[in-house]
Amino acid sequence: MIKDEMTKKLGFGCMRLPILDGDTEKIDDEQFCKMIDTFMEKGFTYFDTAFPYHNEKSEPAVKRCLVDRYERSKFFLATKMPVWNVHEYADYEKYFNMQLERTGAGYFDFYLLHALGKDRIEECEKFGGFEFIQKMKAEGKIRYAGFSFHDSADVLEEALTRHPEVDFVQLQINYYDWDSKNVQSGKCYEVATRHGVPVVVMEPIKGGTLANLAEGPANILHALDPEASIASFAVRYVASLDNVFMVLSGMSTYEQLADNTSYMENFKPLSAEEQEAIQKVVAELKKLPTIPCTKCRYCVAGCPQEILIPDLFQAYNDTVQFGVNPITMRGFNNAVNNGHCKPSECIKCGACEDQCPQHLEIRDLLEKVAATFEK
Ligand code: SF4
Ligand code: SF4
Repeated sequence: MIKDEMTKKLGFGCMRLPILDGDTEKIDDEQFCKMIDTFMEKGFTYFDTAFPYHNEKSEPAVKRCLVDRYERSKFFLATKMPVWNVHEYADYEKYFNMQLERTGAGYFDFYLLHALGKDRIEECEKFGGFEFIQKMKAEGKIRYAGFSFHDSADVLEEALTRHPEVDFVQLQINYYDWDSKNVQSGKCYEVATRHGVPVVVMEPIKGGTLANLAEGPANILHALDPEASIASFAVRYVASLDNVFMVLSGMSTYEQLADNTSYMENFKPLSAEEQEAIQKVVAELKKLPTIPCTKCRYCVAGCPQEILIPDLFQAYNDTVQFGVNPITMRGFNNAVNNGHCKPSECIKCGACEDQCPQHLEIRDLLEKVAATFEK
């Protein structure tokens, strides 16, 4: 049983590792090793990477900093099949073997078909992806097989009905999106629970959004515990769900790691008072008209205008919370540097919206961004 093996509910997400020279491909090994050492010393053991993270440099960094430095039985490693690269059954084998080599792990404790939604589920069924991961499981190369998911609860219901063999699912869950129509965190969690499938949570702080709240909502949480970080309430919220066995946090700095591990080392579920405060925070936040982008960056690669959509949305959201000032303007200027087009130069092709797991109306939102910054 998965849950029996997990002693702690915090996992190290390896998608935003510390980097050098601002280059996403240059992982800061020294810092990453230091973070791993502290994480392991405190009894945490779960690491989550994926083929595309850091432009394919995350899996090799996990090899150098974790696999080559720790006994294999001392940690759990999760990685994911880049299903968008698969065009025939043989591709599954090709990428899987590449991942075994890149990580040097010998086997994966948790293996996921990556970022499934309705269309990708159908593709995986067509090319035999679900059969492939079961085959790897039978051969001992995967211990637990599942998928990460970005779509509606209805689609999840259908997927789990058709594939009762999966051992777990990875869902986007956070307190802000629990009742949202787009992400449907709450409904997806309930579907997985009804099917008896345990859950890994990704984006518990909504890509960092729930770590820096505006003053009003932040004060509600500070009043409960002035020492606790704002992010800690978001992580503890999802970790308090019974059917969640792991909460991933993409940690970029030692400080983030120190904070996360401090309250997850001896995890205490949220009290009734804290749960009530979270509901008040959600009500306050929903009054602020920010764009619920999680910065997954799935929309960026296919944009013919090379518009840095998530960076522009971040700059816009900062203005909603803090007004137009030199700092928020800098965010906008950085996003339109180096040949990247301005939001007003969007040609409305819609390629980005097809990729967005949050189902954002990116074209309309870019008009708002342009109106804010390009006056
Ligand atoms: S709609 Fe605009 S932002 Fe989206 S991919 Fe096309 S040009 Fe880029
Ligand atoms: S706009 Fe959508 S696809 Fe693009 S980064 Fe934000 S959430 Fe991801």
